[in-house]
Amino acid sequence: MIKDINVYKKKLEEELLVVEKELSKIGVQDQKNPSNWVPKMPEENISSADENEVADTVDDVQINNAVVNDLEVRYNNIKVALNKIEEGIYGVCEINGEEISEERLNANPSARTCREHMDQDLK
Ligand SMILES: [Zn+2]
Repeated sequence: MIKDINVYKKKLEEELLVVEKELSKIGVQDQKNPSNWVPKMPEENISSADENEVADTVDDVQINNAVVNDLEVRYNNIKVALNKIEEGIYGVCEINGEEISEERLNANPSARTCREHMDQDLK
């Protein structure tokens, strides 16, 4: 059993704020589906830019996309973990229902699987 769940709750709440802040810099939360974030479009007017700038803009959008997706996964995993704390089922592997070690939870409080199944954790 987890000795002090509030330690993880606090960590998760802090991480959620950080991830949310990062996400809001480069993405916009979908009002209809709050677990979905879409990358912000660059503000430059593409039609007036020269070819190099257009290429840069396309690269930026692709990088933004990847970062938004990555942060979105973290954001949703944290939300799931906080829900589990509320429901009293935090710290249990989603694959086999085993307890996740506190060592692993310390390293990653939003882990959804035990060490044995960490390669199957939702990415
Ligand atoms: Zn497992």
